[in-house]
Amino acid sequence: MNALIKYFSVSVWQFYCIILSGFLIQCAGFTNLVMPPKNDIGLGAQMDAQIRNSPKEYPILNDANSRQYLQNMINKVLQSPEIKYKSMFPYKVEIIKDDKTVNAFCTPGGYIYVYTGLIKMLDNEASLAGVIGHEIAHAELRHSANRIVKAYGLQLAVEIALGNNPGRTAEVAANMFSGLALLKNSRNDESDADDYSFKYLQSTNWYPGAISYFFEKVKGQGGGAIESLLSTHPLPQDRLDTVSKRVKDARIPPPNESTLSSKSYLEFKKRLL
Ligand SMILES: [Zn+2]
Repeated sequence: MNALIKYFSVSVWQFYCIILSGFLIQCAGFTNLVMPPKNDIGLGAQMDAQIRNSPKEYPILNDANSRQYLQNMINKVLQSPEIKYKSMFPYKVEIIKDDKTVNAFCTPGGYIYVYTGLIKMLDNEASLAGVIGHEIAHAELRHSANRIVKAYGLQLAVEIALGNNPGRTAEVAANMFSGLALLKNSRNDESDADDYSFKYLQSTNWYPGAISYFFEKVKGQGGGAIESLLSTHPLPQDRLDTVSKRVKDARIPPPNESTLSSKSYLEFKKRLL
């Protein structure tokens, strides 16, 4: 009888633990607790290494000037007081030479990749700054890390955080890399990233609503060019509507050449190898 009571009390305790950990995993801030932000750097570095080792899929453009142009843009966005991890995350950019792909993505820890297809489609610097701000927001808000904790559970997150099982970290990085599966963002993540991109750009000279030009361009396109983009960045009409509302609510003045920087951007595009 005693053994039976003991068995049930252990089972009830296990049941409570499962419910509690399930509940905690859903809580904001839980990821920071079990997997501190510095762990994103190692994951990002591993993904970065895999991207560099896959030149067929990710041909990196060998053009130091163009890369520096984008890096300067990123550094301007990082000046925003809303950016928490600018001194922790590397925030490096590479350009992928693929005119047919209209996309950009960011690994945990801030390794940012921008496709030439995206650069060439846009007409002004402010639009690209909006997309870059959006990618930075995914890293800052730790969207991939949140998904790792949810997908792999508490134990693995703690193993990664403790750093005592490098094989498991590599395994997670490889899984994230394969098809960029863990870079696929939910609608909420997308909406948050748009929101923060807007806030970041408010600290710059760029028109913070310019990501809407990018949305408009995407709407006007079709076929394979945006397939990859839509697989990692769902684009419902409400994202466009929300940007218009943010512009209105923040009383942002209409854009002009100074806040869009289209002339210097066109020069940059001409120089792009
Ligand atoms: Zn996104």
